[in-house]
Amino acid sequence: MKRLYGGIEAGGTKFVCMVATGPDDVVEEKRFPTASPEETIQQTNSFFAPYARRGELAALGIASFGPVDLNPASPTYGYITTTPKTDWNNVDLQGGVSRALELPVVLDTDVNAAALGEHYWTAENNLLDPFVYITVGTGIGVGVLANGRPVHGLVHIEAGHFAIPHDRQKDPFPGSCPYHGDCLEGLGSGTAIHRRWGKNAEALPDSHPAWELESEYIALALINLIYAYSPQRIVLGGGVSQHAGLHEIVRRKVQQGLNGYIQSPMLLKAIDEYIVPPSLGNRSGVLGAIAMAIDLVKS
Ligand code: ZN
Repeated sequence: MKRLYGGIEAGGTKFVCMVATGPDDVVEEKRFPTASPEETIQQTNSFFAPYARRGELAALGIASFGPVDLNPASPTYGYITTTPKTDWNNVDLQGGVSRALELPVVLDTDVNAAALGEHYWTAENNLLDPFVYITVGTGIGVGVLANGRPVHGLVHIEAGHFAIPHDRQKDPFPGSCPYHGDCLEGLGSGTAIHRRWGKNAEALPDSHPAWELESEYIALALINLIYAYSPQRIVLGGGVSQHAGLHEIVRRKVQQGLNGYIQSPMLLKAIDEYIVPPSLGNRSGVLGAIAMAIDLVKS
C-alpha cells in the first residue's frame, strides 16, 4: 500500500511539491509561491494530506533553502536557521511537515538534494564519486556527495561563499553578499549580475561583457571544487548557467586555470562530459527529495 514518496523543494521564491516513485512515475506535482512560513507549510501539508490519509506515502524528503540544521542530535534539527529571508529564521520546517502528516521526513539542503537527484536517477552518474552539483541562479550553492551520501559537517558545505580573486580594476562592483560582499555569490550570482548591470541575466545579450566576467567567476569556483574534492563529475545548473554557450566558455576557462596541473583525461580530453548541465533539468532538487525519502525508509 505505502508505495509512494513525497518530495518538497523548498525555495526562497517557490515551493515545489511532488508525489512520485521516480522521474518516470510522477503522480502529482504542484508549485506555489513562498509566503509566510505558517501559510506555506499549511499549503504544503494540504497538498500531501489526502495521500497521507489514505496511507499511500511511505516517507517524505525536503530539499530546503538554508542555512539549515542537519544535525539529528540537535534540538533544532530540520530548522531553517539564519536565512537572509528573515521571516523564515528559526522555522521548524521538518517538524512542521512530519507532525502534521505523521510521516517520517528527512531534510537536506536544496543543493545536496539536487546532487543526490542527479546521482540517483541518472544511470551514468551512479558510480561517479565524489559528485558535485553547483547551482548558479539568484544565489550560488554547492552540494557534494562522497560515498554516495551528501557531505555534512559542522553544518553543511557553503561553497557558494568561496573567497575568490576579485580584480577591482576589471570589476569595480563591490559585491552583493550581505555577509561577505565580494565572495563568489556576491560577485557571480544572478543577484550580483542584476545589481552590477541593472538588468536580469536573461536580458543580457551574448555579446555583453557580463558573460565573460560571469564565466570567469564560475570557472574559479569549479577550479576550487576540483582541487578540494577531486569530483568525478560536476553538474552545473541554475538559471544563470542556462545562458547559451556559457558551459563551453566555463570549460575552457577551467582548463586554462588548471593549466595542466591535474593529470586526468577527464579534464584534458573529456571536459564536455565532466562539466555538464543537469540531466533532470529544473527538477533535480525535488527528485532528489524523492530519492532522500526512498533512502530514509530503506535504511
Ligand atoms: Zn557570501
